Amino acid sequence: MNEILGHLKSDEEGFFGRECPQCEGYFKIQFGTGLKGENLPCSCPYCGHKGSQDTFWTKDQLKHINSQVLRHIQNEFSKVFKKTTTRSRPNSGFGITIKYKAGRPQPIHYYREKKLQEEVICDKCTLRYAIYGTFGYCPDCGVHNSLQILKTNFTIIEKILMVAESSDQAIKDKLIENGLEDAVSAIDGYGRELSKLFAPKSSNPVKAQNISFQNIEGAQTNLVTLFSIDITQAISTIEWNDLKKLFQKRHLLAHKMGVIDQSYISATGESPGLIGRKVEISSQEVRDAVKYLVSIGQYFYDQLHLIP
Ligand SMILES: [Zn+2]
Ligand SMILES: [Zn+2]
Repeated sequence: MNEILGHLKSDEEGFFGRECPQCEGYFKIQFGTGLKGENLPCSCPYCGHKGSQDTFWTKDQLKHINSQVLRHIQNEFSKVFKKTTTRSRPNSGFGITIKYKAGRPQPIHYYREKKLQEEVICDKCTLRYAIYGTFGYCPDCGVHNSLQILKTNFTIIEKILMVAESSDQAIKDKLIENGLEDAVSAIDGYGRELSKLFAPKSSNPVKAQNISFQNIEGAQTNLVTLFSIDITQAISTIEWNDLKKLFQKRHLLAHKMGVIDQSYISATGESPGLIGRKVEISSQEVRDAVKYLVSIGQYFYDQLHLIP
């Protein structure tokens, strides 16, 4: 392992490329940032395959090392032959003459590590790694990063809300709306990913591959049917009702230019006198929603891991 590593160079950010022998997925890690110890296995962030670190070299890295070895052998050969040529004494009656003609030097295979899309510092083992997409297993400790990514996204949303609170009204409204939209996207991406991962343990694996969390009530019903998990247990009834209302508001923003219609009134039980008005959303509402969604996300994660 270290013998090979000594011949390789990290990229500008300190990462070394890795390639899964099972799915050929490419990712990068910074050696020395995660678990400490000898002969620790490597996990593929994409398919979860576990194997010795030495089986995860990329094709480019192996080609590079092969070309270096060939160049080295070539150099050694040429040294030996040159010595033989000078040592032999053709006129003395004994000795041999070998005319050594140096050929073209063996070309070295150079490569560049690829740019990836998501950089993660594992919150369990502190390994720094980079992957395509967003979600994956930590290559060192094997923990799935979904919950960590969800929390990171919510931290960013809280920062957006802080900026909103100190901005002019027009910008403030826009930032709050964006914050809400981002919160729904974050829980949707997270919920879909976890449902997909645990689909084999659900009552209908095909359906579990495709649960939308943009409608939180629909998701709740589906999770009860498919996994026997009731996410309303994560928060109080009042909080759940507030959350449902906020998802209804978000639906208006996404599909009705934020204008209140009859189906919003039917779903929320608010006064029909509001029909035709623009929906109002406060930063505190979005802050609360983020808090509830963290609890729901954590609860869903824990309950899934309890399924035998
Ligand atoms: Zn893999
Ligand atoms: Zn880890």
